[in-house]
Amino acid sequence: TRVPLVAGNWKMNFDHLEATYFVQKFAWLLRDAKFDYRRCEVSLFPAFTALRSVQVLVEADHLHITYGAQSVSVTTQGAFTGDVSADMLARLGCRYVIVGHSERRKYHPEDDANIVDQVRAVLAAGMQPILCLGESFEERRQGIELEFAVGQAHDVTRDLSDEEAARLIVAYEPVWAIGTGMVATPQTAQDAAKAIRDDLRDTFGPHVAEVVRILYGGSVTSKNCTQIIAEPDVDGFLIGGASLDVEELARIARLT
Ligand code: 13P
Repeated sequence: TRVPLVAGNWKMNFDHLEATYFVQKFAWLLRDAKFDYRRCEVSLFPAFTALRSVQVLVEADHLHITYGAQSVSVTTQGAFTGDVSADMLARLGCRYVIVGHSERRKYHPEDDANIVDQVRAVLAAGMQPILCLGESFEERRQGIELEFAVGQAHDVTRDLSDEEAARLIVAYEPVWAIGTGMVATPQTAQDAAKAIRDDLRDTFGPHVAEVVRILYGGSVTSKNCTQIIAEPDVDGFLIGGASLDVEELARIARLT
């Protein structure tokens, strides 16, 4: 019942001209392949500077591609130089905002409290947060990876209402797998997704556990996506490097 989601996180790549070219070619490739957007949703996450261009293109050509931002301010407006509010993103047609990516946690002062506030800001603006979490190699070495990932999910989500929680998307992205070529095994992705879903069920009940999509992220390619998506609790992918290659991203969408 959960429609899989293939989400391309472009990170700090592609200016608005490159983004425009990509989206046009991507839509053309999928049209050529008779891609069924009801079977699998595809979503792109450009830099702030390219969002408006993507919006114009998606609206003008009536594309079925959704898109969102990679981060958001926790405040609604005012003297916050350099920040972008959730309302500004919603006005650009963003459906999603990535929240708590490990690169944001590492290079910016984003802790759990800040991430909770981002989740709330995204929900209040009518969008859906894609909450990123996942253990580093150290937790995996200690054998506490599931407790760690579930703890991260639980700490950020526990104070949400059932209605808010039902609009979440969770992306399990083990830090050791991001940009390393060391993709998680299908079983590893499934174990984490199931543990996170079980915690959602304990906290919010069966409906929320049933509807929340849980993505896997970390060195996903067209070579490994088929085995991972076959797992029952994995509902799609958050893709970094491979999402910069338009043919490769189209292949992954077709295989998901
Ligand atoms: P890679 O696909 O490049 O490993 O990046 C994953 C990621 O961080 C997506 O958010």
